[in-house]
Amino acid sequence: MTSGDELAEALAAGYPELAEVAAAAPDPVYLVGGAVRDLLLGRGRADIDLVVEGDPGDLAAALGAEILESHSRFGTFKLALGAATCGRDEVLDVASARRESYVRPGALPTVEPGAPIRTDLARRDFTVNAMAVALAEPRELIDPYDGQADLEAGVLRVIHAGSFVDDPTRAIRAARYAARFGFGVEPGTRELLQATDLGTVTPERRGAELRKLAEEASAVRALELLAGWGLIEPREGGESFALARDVDRLMAAPPWSEEADRAESILAAALGPWAGEDRLAKVSPATPSEGVRLARGHDPIELVLARAAGARWLDDWLRWREVSLEITGADLTAAGLTGPAVGEALERALTAKLDGKAPTRADELRQALEPPR
Ligand code: ATP
Repeated sequence: MTSGDELAEALAAGYPELAEVAAAAPDPVYLVGGAVRDLLLGRGRADIDLVVEGDPGDLAAALGAEILESHSRFGTFKLALGAATCGRDEVLDVASARRESYVRPGALPTVEPGAPIRTDLARRDFTVNAMAVALAEPRELIDPYDGQADLEAGVLRVIHAGSFVDDPTRAIRAARYAARFGFGVEPGTRELLQATDLGTVTPERRGAELRKLAEEASAVRALELLAGWGLIEPREGGESFALARDVDRLMAAPPWSEEADRAESILAAALGPWAGEDRLAKVSPATPSEGVRLARGHDPIELVLARAAGARWLDDWLRWREVSLEITGADLTAAGLTGPAVGEALERALTAKLDGKAPTRADELRQALEPPR
């Protein structure tokens, strides 16, 4: 177990700029959430989330910090701590300690600022995320739900039984953390997860949380957990996400990592909406020009999915698509072509060039002007 002294030392070493914040703060201020969790895990720096028992505006003024964003309804601020204070530009998320309540399942919370830190911790998702460290000496850990013990045991546990009813996006967060840290889920929390209704939140909020999940290195494992709890339906049926796993592998390195967004591709492979990759994976173009025609018009994500599903010819297509003509439409109009005939002639020339039949500019022009057979 990390002692109070060890934690204070880790905090001082990991976040030296917070000493300045502590010295200037007119009200009690705490480091909360993921940064505390990651300090206890020995994982190094994370985003800085601070909670003040007071007005974050007063803290900003006392620090002389630039306010990058402020949302008065939620009492949250994004501050830039200038290089003069901490040696580099640092962004802090600062919120006033608040009480939250939910008017109906899945609604955005009603926020009442001006609560004590422990009340603020009570609104959080999991015990391991519901810890705080006071920035003022002696910098003690505030851990009302035994999050430190859960961290050491590798267990994810909600703080209260209504947690996923209030905010079902926490179920997606649960999968994200369980997969990222290799944590187990406490049995009571698992039962609550299995009873969660993701349908009470808007598709936008659900999508945003899934997107965060998909950005993680352990995305596919997290999706499997969600499917195991019955909260998502794999596009392929069952609980496995074989195609998503293949996409993940394919996109670990160039060239395919550069073709599309990894997170979106994994989600598409796992949950849809695309389903056309099989068609592209089953064909095998006889010539480069046929490959270029087959791939044309497909979204990059579809092509990534097709390649992951076995369309090896798409590796060659990455080269084929770079082939371009030296001649232009102007050359063809000069030669007397007009209207759609120009496009058709260019297409003929490109086909010939792709298939090795027009190595020179003169060959391109000849192929373009050759009457169609
Ligand atoms: P990471 O950024 O490493 O994924 P984090 O804990 O910093 O983890 P954030 O999404 O930045 O994650 O949230 C910060 C903190 O806010 C969390 O640690 C948690 O205490 C709280 N929190 C965030 N979202 C929710 C939520 N939907 N319900 C309850 N508490 C939440």
